[in-house]
Amino acid sequence: MECKEFEHLIPDFLQKNMGYGVMEDFREHMDHCEACKEELSIQFLVAEGMRHLEDDGAFDLQKELDRRLEENRNRLLIHKKLLLARRYFFTALITAVGMVILLFLG
Ligand SMILES: [Zn+2]
Repeated sequence: MECKEFEHLIPDFLQKNMGYGVMEDFREHMDHCEACKEELSIQFLVAEGMRHLEDDGAFDLQKELDRRLEENRNRLLIHKKLLLARRYFFTALITAVGMVILLFLG
């Protein structure tokens, strides 16, 4: 993923609108590109800071960003597990169907 694409996707991340297809690339780019990580932090702090202007100031933005990234990571992990489970399920299903067909043909 290019930096330009990453920047383009930041609003999606902030609004929790990001599709799983790009989430992994997004995170990978962030892990390897300090500039984009910085850009994400800044945009997050601005967006969340605005939302929490009326709060009593106890809101910890850095902690919130860490939490959001952790949540994003967990969602991605769960999504991957689901994909894997689905693949195993279909493999088992196809095997079972194949066996039934063989039984009838035999
Ligand atoms: Zn970058």
